[in-house]
This record gives sequence, structure tokens and C-alpha cells, in this order.
Amino acid sequence: MKPETKAQLISVGSVNMDPALIHWLTIPTAGPGAGNIAFFFNSGGHRVRLAVKKESPLEAKMEDGELVIRRDGVEIARGSIEEELIHCPDQAFITMCEKCVFDCKFCPVPKLGGKVKSMDQMLTMIADANETGSMKAISITSGVETSAEKEVERAEELVRRLKEKYDVPIGVSVYPTEDSTLRLKAAGADELKYNVETMDRKLHAELCPDQDLEFLLDALREGVKVFGKNKVCSNFIIGLGETDESAEKGIEELVSIGVVPILRAAAQHPLRKGEVTVERPTAERLMHLNLFLKEKLDEYGLRADTFDTMCLPCTGCDINPHLDIED
Ligand code: SF4
Repeated sequence: MKPETKAQLISVGSVNMDPALIHWLTIPTAGPGAGNIAFFFNSGGHRVRLAVKKESPLEAKMEDGELVIRRDGVEIARGSIEEELIHCPDQAFITMCEKCVFDCKFCPVPKLGGKVKSMDQMLTMIADANETGSMKAISITSGVETSAEKEVERAEELVRRLKEKYDVPIGVSVYPTEDSTLRLKAAGADELKYNVETMDRKLHAELCPDQDLEFLLDALREGVKVFGKNKVCSNFIIGLGETDESAEKGIEELVSIGVVPILRAAAQHPLRKGEVTVERPTAERLMHLNLFLKEKLDEYGLRADTFDTMCLPCTGCDINPHLDIED
């Protein structure tokens, strides 16, 4: 699958397909896609996660053992449906807490009132995933049930207990606290993700009123110092109203401090109608910004293809500039 095709699929984000074709259904419980039925499509080693929606302009059908995706009757991709382990293929990706006290205007999680997993539940889920023999990494993320400090404490304990048992890389994505970076590193985490969400200062203040972008950037800087180069990443949502110029400035700012940005296409969730104006990026915009990102990563000596945990190796929701775009 060419990056332009993947960009097109991400831009649409869904296919009209018989859900019975998915023998492994996934209903994400975190982030902007929470609550949708989705599956992983793989074509030529390139992966994309697609929601199943009747109203999608893309149609997917099984033909001779392959899933064929068409737009207006014209084939645009063919490949297979990939099984997930926990949340995504090859990884046990655990959401510790599916609630959030923050109120980012694009995110449905605070309104979904999801579950909080106990330590025993998480350890059992990971033990079961390990039994399959296909667990290449463990990733941990979380909303914020009561405080960021409490989530860091839980992540720290979970990482420590997993490190004693499993010899796979562990990545953690939480909201940072004053000492989260040092504590997670000491517990044995290998990779770190603190999400900036947007680098547009004005939009950040409006859309993430409970978060502090400068604090997040300081935490990311410290993350790079403690975890090292090519070990720290950050989700950067595209389509919240930022201009290309603002997005490019933000990409360069992150890359210049040693952070690998993940350009995530914004999605309008029905529970957030009226609170945010989402302009889902076009395939052309996704390609343009990812080519810019690739150029900047290369200029600053960073890689998007050496991470072992979380979204960069998964590539389901985003173009990975080094895995999906050829040199
Ligand atoms: S790219 Fe990240 S959010 Fe998307 S499916 Fe993969 S692990 Fe989940």
C-alpha cells in the first residue's frame, strides 16, 4: 500500500463492510475513536485501523480471501484483516483507566465514564496475551481517574511488576507529573509518551483547558534527557483548526527537543458535537505534513521506525514517516 493510499484511508477513517467479516472485533475505550467498531487492515505490510460504518464512502468486500476496498466502484487497496492482541496487533496495550477528570473538548472519554482496571485484572490480561506467544511489547496508557499523580503511581507499580516477569519492551503514556519521568524510568519503562494534543498555543488553551502545554513540553524535554533519543514521542492531533504553518512550527519545535511527533487525524465524536470544530485532514494534507515531519526527523537525526511500543510501531492510526514512506 502506497503512503498516498494509506493517507486516503486514514482521511476517511472508515469502510462500509459486513461486521461479520471481522472475527476479531475491537471497540477502543480510549482516545478520540472510543466507542467505534474497528479492525486492522494490512496491505503489503502497511497497516491501517478502520472503523466500520454504513455511511462510509469506502466499500470493503472479501474476494478470493482478500479484503478489497473500493471507492465509487474503483479498487483502491487490497489486503487482509489483522488480529489484534490487546487493542492492537503484537502488543498488549492496556488502558488502566477509561475515565478522565480532564475535559479536552475533542475527547469523548470524560463523557463515556468507562471502567478502571484493577492491578490484578491488568496482570491477568497481560499474562493471557503472553500465553499466545505473540506479545512483542507491552504498552500502558490511561485517562485520569482522580489525579495524574495516582495514575503515575499505578503505572509505576504495573511496570515494576511486569519487568520482573516479562522480557519485552514497555512503553508508558500518561499525563506527566513533577517526578513521573524519573519514576517510570526507575520502574523499568523503556519508552515514554506525553501527548501535547496540539502545538498551537491558542487552540491548546481553548481545547485542553485543564492541561498546561509548557509543563508538558518541559516534561518531554526531561523525558528525552532521561529516556534518551528516539525513546520519547507525543501525539499531535491534526485538524483541530490549526493552519499548516502552525502545525509545521509545532512539528519542528517538538523534533528540535528530541521528541518524535505522531500526527493523528482529528475525529469528530458525536458526544463532542458543538464543543470543537474538527476538520478531518485530507489525504493531501496528511501526506504534506508527514513529508515535512520526515524531513525534520532526518535533519535532527531522529527515527520513527526504531520504537518498539505504543503507536509508532503499530501504525494503525497514523502514517509513520519512516515505516510508511519510502526514502
Ligand atoms: S496507532 Fe496507537 S491508538 Fe491507533 S490502534 Fe495503534 S496503538 Fe492504538
